[in-house]
Amino acid sequence: MIVTLSREADVDSVKGELAGLGLWVGSVERSRSGDIHLVVGQASTHVDPSLVERVAGVSSVSAPASSHPRVDAHGPRLDIGGIAISPASPVVVSGPCAVESEEQIFRIAGKLAEVGVKLLRGGAYKPRTSPYAFQGHGRSALAWLRAAADRSGMKVVTEVLSEADVEPVAEHADVLQIGSRNMQAFSLLKAVGRAKKPVLLKRSMAATVEEWLLAGEYLLSHGAAGVVFCERGVRGFDPSTRNLLDLGAVALLSHVYRLPVLVDPSHATGRRELVMPLARAALAAGAAGVMVEVHDDPAKAKSDGPQALAPESLAELMAHMSQKGGAR
Ligand code: PEP
Ligand code: MN
Repeated sequence: MIVTLSREADVDSVKGELAGLGLWVGSVERSRSGDIHLVVGQASTHVDPSLVERVAGVSSVSAPASSHPRVDAHGPRLDIGGIAISPASPVVVSGPCAVESEEQIFRIAGKLAEVGVKLLRGGAYKPRTSPYAFQGHGRSALAWLRAAADRSGMKVVTEVLSEADVEPVAEHADVLQIGSRNMQAFSLLKAVGRAKKPVLLKRSMAATVEEWLLAGEYLLSHGAAGVVFCERGVRGFDPSTRNLLDLGAVALLSHVYRLPVLVDPSHATGRRELVMPLARAALAAGAAGVMVEVHDDPAKAKSDGPQALAPESLAELMAHMSQKGGAR
């Protein structure tokens, strides 16, 4: 809420009155014409702006209708170095769960490029439930990923796990990924926003759509060049699939909020035989594309083997995408 004061107002007394209403003043700004504006935040209880208007010394109040104005203004498209992400031209982001070696990522990137994939994913820093599981090769993997993508003319999407890694990841990647487990790691969101790059924001496995949009607002308000939302399934009650793919949320983001949204059927199901049918369902729901994990020897994968498709099998997905309007 922005509160503008009248010329004769006493700032401290207005602040005191606002505090009494449960509001706090984040900053005091003076316009060139001499007007004083208070940037006001509110505690968890909503305060009616008309109560603020009645405070002595207040001349006007502007309260944004939405808590995520930058997300609302984002639009349905995001450009990544000349590749448009939009439901009108759906994309495939693909690659292994983790970058396991230089040879592996070069081999897989080559196979993906052959079937027309333009956006290469792969984890250099892996968020693993167990501290004993493979954690990724870190910086070395970033360099391998970049080189493999460059050789095949692809763009790089990779996850940032910590604030300390934002700089090297931003140096090597075209799109910074925020993983499900970090969707509400607010300091990380701010640091990633400050890198001023496009961000792929995965939905937390237990986040409401509003929380997801507000995480996007964090990124955009700190400078992100754009956000593509990625639905990867929320926690369900049934272990038959790894997660519960929320296609309703995909349709909501695409058709109502008019935002670019991808679907990750790999993490949503944890089962390779379900990836293709759900990729098709994602496009029908309005997704701007899919993120699909591949591996050329899934039995030996260091993470997420059971959900990995063979890189060659993406040709079928690419063909489906081109029928939908995109050929990428
Ligand atoms: C990933 O895409 O590599 C990943 C770890 O996914 P999520 O954050 O959705 O679990
Ligand atoms: Mn994975």
